[in-house]
Amino acid sequence: MNFYSLNKQAPKVSFKDAVIKGIAPDKGLYFPESIEPLPASFFEGIEDLSHHEIAFNAIHQFVSDDIPNGKLKEILADVLDFDFPIVQLEENVATLELFHGPTMAFKDVGARFMANCLGYFSEGTTTEVTVLVATSGDTGGAVANGFLGVEGVKVVILYPSGKVSDIQERQLTTLAQNISALEVEGTFDDCQNMVKTAFLDEKLLRAMQLTSANSINVARWLPQLFYFLFAYKAAKSQGKEIVFAVPSGNFGNICAGLVAQKLGMPVKHFVAATNVNDTVPEFMKTREYLPKPSTPTISNAMDVGDPSNFIRIRHLFHDDFEALSKTLSSYTFTDSETKEAMKAIYRNSNYIADPHGAVGYLGLKKYQESHPNTYGIFLETAHPVKFLAVVEETIAEKLAIPQQIQQVMGKEKKSIKIATYEELKEFLLDS
Ligand SMILES: *Cc1c(COP(=O)(O)O)cnc(C)c1O
Repeated sequence: MNFYSLNKQAPKVSFKDAVIKGIAPDKGLYFPESIEPLPASFFEGIEDLSHHEIAFNAIHQFVSDDIPNGKLKEILADVLDFDFPIVQLEENVATLELFHGPTMAFKDVGARFMANCLGYFSEGTTTEVTVLVATSGDTGGAVANGFLGVEGVKVVILYPSGKVSDIQERQLTTLAQNISALEVEGTFDDCQNMVKTAFLDEKLLRAMQLTSANSINVARWLPQLFYFLFAYKAAKSQGKEIVFAVPSGNFGNICAGLVAQKLGMPVKHFVAATNVNDTVPEFMKTREYLPKPSTPTISNAMDVGDPSNFIRIRHLFHDDFEALSKTLSSYTFTDSETKEAMKAIYRNSNYIADPHGAVGYLGLKKYQESHPNTYGIFLETAHPVKFLAVVEETIAEKLAIPQQIQQVMGKEKKSIKIATYEELKEFLLDS
């Protein structure tokens, strides 16, 4: 399958080239030329399919011949070697736990899939690829873990100094090998702007093959649609209309859910829940898209003022606002509402939600006020232990530390401090 640039000023490319380039030369996001619905029999018989089979059927049309079927199956088996359980909390309210991977955030699947694809594409070539990525928290750890030791690929991660949690920071600064962590004096937006500037820098682009591992990369974005299919498989027997509530920052995850719907997955509605970074909830109210600087919150992986994947969502609906608003609602919540939700979930269901999941829960409950008879699934995008301080303080309990996290807690942080784009450029050219 070919992918075109949403800016329409660049040639179409194969899956392979879309993954290697990350973003089109006209700075547009790549988008698949077609999304062919899966046969009705796929959804009718989904209970009998394994996660690996579901994933292969769903992703195959996008990858097409760029990766042979046998290799693609191998990659999927490697990527999906952990569970995606659904936990029912209340009548008609369940959570889909996406945090059982190596870095305990949902980004593990996309990051591992992309790392495997890039590793496969660079076999037998001599040009090294440099993956440049900005993180507001979880992307960095997932990308570092996914790409660790992949031959022919170097990874450079930019993160805002003092604005990620201690565990998040350790996950991205303690691996070494082919992974470098740059600690930026500034905000996540500053990190993202430096990355964007690098992708426009002709001198840099001539000197190295740069790609991005943010969810703009199709190999990070598309595999996220698996979650929704896995959840559908598990929730189908409820016999109710299904609603997904997705805690959203860059809107890659929810956009992948909407692709699953285009593939034919029967689902009634999607709720994009955000923290106070409310650019999309405002858009859904006013029809005006007004990006703004991001505001720090306790759900820091969603502190995004200009969500890069929202343009893909608009495109999926042919920029038809009416059609989009029939499928998508979007609500915004403050940190104090989020903490109240964490307390309520703990009190009522004896379940510990992380701040991101709690925002998803709030979005679901708000939608269900007017649609009570739906079966709602909110996505738990990170393990609560990744936000240890705020979770322990909010629910007044100590958390047990899982083994994946204990492993990084004792390791020494290694980062390089930078403050300007020039310093980033120097680092890239010298390394
Ligand atoms: C990245 C992230 C999100 C936001 O996902 P998007 O695809 O950027 O909308 C939500 N929760 C957690 C824990 C994350 O790491």
